Amino acid sequence: MNLLIDNIGELVTNDPALGRGPLGIVQRAAVLVEEGQIAWIGRAAYAQPADRRLDAEGAAVIPGFVDSHAHLVFAGDRAPEFAARMAGEAYTGGGIRTTVAATRAASDDDLRATVERLRREALRQGTTTIEIKSGYGLSVADEVRSLRIAREFTEETTFLGAHVVPPEYTDRPDDYVGLVCGPMLRSAAPHARWIDVFCERGAFDADHSRAILTVGQAAGLGVRVHANQLGPGPGVRLAVELGAASADHCTHLDDSDVDALAGSSTVATLLPGAEFSTRSAYPDARRLLDARVAVALATDCNPGSSYTTSMPFCIALAVREMGMTPAEAVWAATAGGARALRRTDIGVLRPGARADMVVLDAPSHLHLAYRPGVPLVRHTVHNGVPSR
Ligand SMILES: [Zn+2]
Repeated sequence: MNLLIDNIGELVTNDPALGRGPLGIVQRAAVLVEEGQIAWIGRAAYAQPADRRLDAEGAAVIPGFVDSHAHLVFAGDRAPEFAARMAGEAYTGGGIRTTVAATRAASDDDLRATVERLRREALRQGTTTIEIKSGYGLSVADEVRSLRIAREFTEETTFLGAHVVPPEYTDRPDDYVGLVCGPMLRSAAPHARWIDVFCERGAFDADHSRAILTVGQAAGLGVRVHANQLGPGPGVRLAVELGAASADHCTHLDDSDVDALAGSSTVATLLPGAEFSTRSAYPDARRLLDARVAVALATDCNPGSSYTTSMPFCIALAVREMGMTPAEAVWAATAGGARALRRTDIGVLRPGARADMVVLDAPSHLHLAYRPGVPLVRHTVHNGVPSR
């Protein structure tokens, strides 16, 4: 059974060979989907009939959002902490331990229900691929069950045993790093595609981060790094040194960090929901783009510093606050996220790619930034199946 998405006013393919500009835009387009993949793209006038037809009614269609950074396996709620911050308290990352305690105390079913709820919420807003990290268990058993549950919802799972040093190891962080590099990694690796470290003052320093990421790499995991979020530091340069797929946050960068990223295959993943929710200065996307660094946008969805699953919200922030054009932000939220996950089958609409796309309730991709806070996702098509 095939599906024709017809009467598309503006199709964003992200393939410059298929259409106009860096977004590869095709006007008055149609897309033929077969067995979860794109079989044909072209002018609607040349489309052949299919078993099923979805009429886009002249609206814009874009690739499904690729959210390459999310922490969905957790329990509890930190709304009071958010309110305190908005009343003037500073964000230190210390609240992560609150979520660790709640997550350890939760049942598998409770954790699974939260991931399922947030995954559905993201899908409704056009997210067709989502990366999910562990990192609120911080014991061998709790990290493994976090990854097992994440795996039920995505193939892009990330082992983040090095999120913070848990309370029982506060006075002996070297022992915790030993646990992460040894028994925890051995048990977690079969359930993960990636390894990640929160490389930041108060979390893990450069030596500990390098040790953890290096053994993760040797175990076959790809590398991602939480880098330079709360202040300047070694995270970005370490990510580039290790050939990481992505350095995430990149809020506090010096010229050598930007140069390192520019000469590398490491994507700078910017997470403006975190700056929004901690009332902090945003990363300078313009500086990175002008240096020809590949930029991705992601939500960083987590209960402490960015409790949103909305990629359109991140696009609007990136355009308004970070110097990105609407086209750059849409690319970063789709193709950029795919590149940050080293995927070539998503984030782009071309024959052979996965049929993941969003039919907008708008005539143009520009509306995602132009009409902030408005639900503009009419249909999410995931693996060739329209949501409704
Ligand atoms: Zn994060």
